[in-house]
Amino acid sequence: EVRLRVAPSPTGDPHVGTAYMAMFDLAFARQQGGKFVLRIEDTDRARFQADSEQQIFDTLEWLGLTWDEGPDKGGPYAPYRQSERLDTYKPYVQKLLDEGKAYYCYCTSERLAEMREFQQKQKLPTGYDRMCYGKTREERSKEPGFSDNPVVRMFVPDDAPLTFTDLIRGEVKAPRPDDQVILKADGFPTYHLAVVVDDHEMAITHVVRGEEWISSTPKHILLYQGLGLEPPKFAHMPLLRDEKKAKISKRKSPWARLTWFKEQGYLPEALLNFLALLGYPPVIETDGSEREVFTFEEFSKNFEWSKVNTVGPIFNLDKLNWLNGHYIRELPTREFATRLLPFLVKDGVLSEQPSLPELGRLNLVAEQIQTRINLLSEATALVAPFFCKDDELPIADDARSQLKETAPQVIDAAIEALEPISGSLGKPDGSDVEWTHERIEAALREAIVEGLGIKPKFAFGPLRTAVSGQRISPPLFESMEILGKHSTMERLKALRA
Ligand code: ATP
Ligand code: GLU
Repeated sequence: EVRLRVAPSPTGDPHVGTAYMAMFDLAFARQQGGKFVLRIEDTDRARFQADSEQQIFDTLEWLGLTWDEGPDKGGPYAPYRQSERLDTYKPYVQKLLDEGKAYYCYCTSERLAEMREFQQKQKLPTGYDRMCYGKTREERSKEPGFSDNPVVRMFVPDDAPLTFTDLIRGEVKAPRPDDQVILKADGFPTYHLAVVVDDHEMAITHVVRGEEWISSTPKHILLYQGLGLEPPKFAHMPLLRDEKKAKISKRKSPWARLTWFKEQGYLPEALLNFLALLGYPPVIETDGSEREVFTFEEFSKNFEWSKVNTVGPIFNLDKLNWLNGHYIRELPTREFATRLLPFLVKDGVLSEQPSLPELGRLNLVAEQIQTRINLLSEATALVAPFFCKDDELPIADDARSQLKETAPQVIDAAIEALEPISGSLGKPDGSDVEWTHERIEAALREAIVEGLGIKPKFAFGPLRTAVSGQRISPPLFESMEILGKHSTMERLKALRA
């Protein structure tokens, strides 16, 4: 059985790279009928943030990247949080110590800093100089720079293997590491030890992670060897890069944060498709053409490691926006309206529990705007006017300033032309038979464009301002139909007053 894991550290808002790795993990696990595990690597207590773990759960869940085993779900290898596994690591450290593959290091941080400075000045290779190697505590304590609280370092022999086979890159060679710390003075394992022990204990078969870990892999392989364990297979994914080819990081780009995508109104299926395209070629159709839009299931079914890109892909937001717009238009309208709801609630347009008529109206408005937005968060401005009291409709400055001198004349003519059309309630069930966008349009064109000889651009701008308060709105006549006669007339009169 294949078993893959994603192993984020709870050090803040989850990184988009975590979702990117998790997606490749899950695609392969599902294809092979294996398992996908979520492990929380919280051994770095200095960078730990309490709410980060919940954000990791929420964002991966939102993307549909659901795990079979994890801290919240349990599983045969629980616990899945490293801070709860401290006792697990101890016998492994002891074994390495007993066999001379690891040793205590008593050097103070000041001594290590001096050592580094000296190496740099002398242009010597940098790395731990093994001052403590082969010495008892007693012997070491007589020398300078001694700390009572030792760390444990792994011993890296001269013939340590530095090459390994990567599922994506083939043979990879990494630089020789120095004697790495594996157990810190506070009793916590370092990443290197914990990742090896846990991947082994959790029976992980494939380790998928960012290419920045390539230089760590020989350290891990050496630990596996030292412990007499079989290493898993490794796949190092290309890091996502910005337009300047720099690795995207949370400090520089808001879109490195996974929660950002949710807040902006990206659809999870669009983000997944986009992330897949960043690391993987498009689908090739039987006629040889390329298709960039595909589902996770399709991706998972056909996935092969050898096709993953090795060059860091550029994270192109325009492309993501295009894909998101595409996915929005593919949604059934009711589903689209449902996805808009949390945004409308957050922006105060609707309450948490909208009434049935409100939901009916939302469906009608959703149909009008579905082709007009690329992000769900863009809906608020377009939808809000439909849920606003007529006498409280705000008129945006740019909508008011576009009004020409002919505006009063146009609005008066509209009021006169619409008055005879029956219907006043704007019922979503369609019982206002006469108050339809076709009738409204015909009446307004006749009265204003033909009657007054005013061009459509100037004829309908003021009406749009009156009913929506905005310069850009969903289609005017459809908007009037949805608002109903009563509201439409009130709003026209209000702009005239
Ligand atoms: P910061 O954003 O503050 O610079 P960071 O970007 O280095 O931090 P980390 O917290 O170090 O982010 O990494 C979190 C996870 O995201 C790691 O698993 C890392 O492999 C992954 N990751 C970081 N940057 C990228 C990237 N550009 N592309 C893909 N994955 C990344
Ligand atoms: N905790 C590491 C990270 O956040 C995991 C790296 C790995 O997958 O080995 O990147």
